[in-house]
Amino acid sequence: MPENLLSVNGLQKRFDVGGGFFGWGKTGIDAVSGVSFDVARGETLAIVGESGCGKSTVGRCILSLVKPTDGKIYLEGHRIDSLSTNEIRDLRRSIQIVFQDPFSSLNPRQRVGDAIAEPLTNFGLSASRSELTEKVNDLLQLVGLPQECADRWPHEFSGGQRQRIGIARALASSPKVIICDEAVSALDVSVKAQIINLLRDLQEKTDVAFVFISHDLAIVENIAHRVAVMYLGKIVELAPTKEIIFSPAHPYTRALLSAVPIADPTRRRVREVIKGEIPSPANPPTGCRFHTRCPYAYDRCRTEEPKLKDRDSGRAVACHLTELPADEGAIIADAGR
Ligand code: SF4
Repeated sequence: MPENLLSVNGLQKRFDVGGGFFGWGKTGIDAVSGVSFDVARGETLAIVGESGCGKSTVGRCILSLVKPTDGKIYLEGHRIDSLSTNEIRDLRRSIQIVFQDPFSSLNPRQRVGDAIAEPLTNFGLSASRSELTEKVNDLLQLVGLPQECADRWPHEFSGGQRQRIGIARALASSPKVIICDEAVSALDVSVKAQIINLLRDLQEKTDVAFVFISHDLAIVENIAHRVAVMYLGKIVELAPTKEIIFSPAHPYTRALLSAVPIADPTRRRVREVIKGEIPSPANPPTGCRFHTRCPYAYDRCRTEEPKLKDRDSGRAVACHLTELPADEGAIIADAGR
């Protein structure tokens, strides 16, 4: 078994909203409700789901950008969910983030070389000016950009090049984990593929682990070792990527996957359409949170919440249907279609 680098146990995040004078009328939104997973060194775990499912909040809790309401987060066995301001600063050296919009994550008035040098300077990782320049040049080379880029401004680069600069900046402190929050979503298809290949190469060279947050299963297929599918603040299925892509077990995973086009014209997928909008996390449905949109929902689903349970091949699923004997499950599934 690979060594766990990052462990998230029972993570919860509740945001308070509204409330007048004295806090009357204040309500809460459970963005994340009891999420648990591990990430090994050199592994990529993708977290996928629709907008509002809580996946980005999980990333922000790991980075200590927001404080969890409950649960524990460990990096190499050390708790990192309740750190002091100084300790959070040190944590930034080990856990970095690459954002969706590379332009807004770079200071337009800072030359690219200075932007990449900033974490090296902040963490005291260069003893001299010449060493700093050498490290910046190495990082530019690592992400496939020429050294001359160091003297240029962010607006002189394309979206893909700017994302390479963002990745170089994230790599500067030699982090153990990088959170990629929709890191390729804003890029053109061909540029997406280049950045995915770059991230895979970098992982091979540096053994960095990625938590790859995305709404797009097609992208995740090309980079993740395992995939966690989130719905309304909870993980509903977690499995190796192959299992998710070729034999998804949860109805929500199947619906997400059925919307992904297949490049091979000889292969077909049954289109499973999920109706309606994702319910409000301020007032989630009782029982299974997916029952208001699930075509297979039956009585039990409306009252009893399914637990995320381990199945075969390293897969965990939260669905009552998968607990039934195969023939019984098939009858209910057929009735739901
Ligand atoms: Fe659908 Fe019921 Fe399974 Fe939820 S528990 S996904 S409602 S079949």
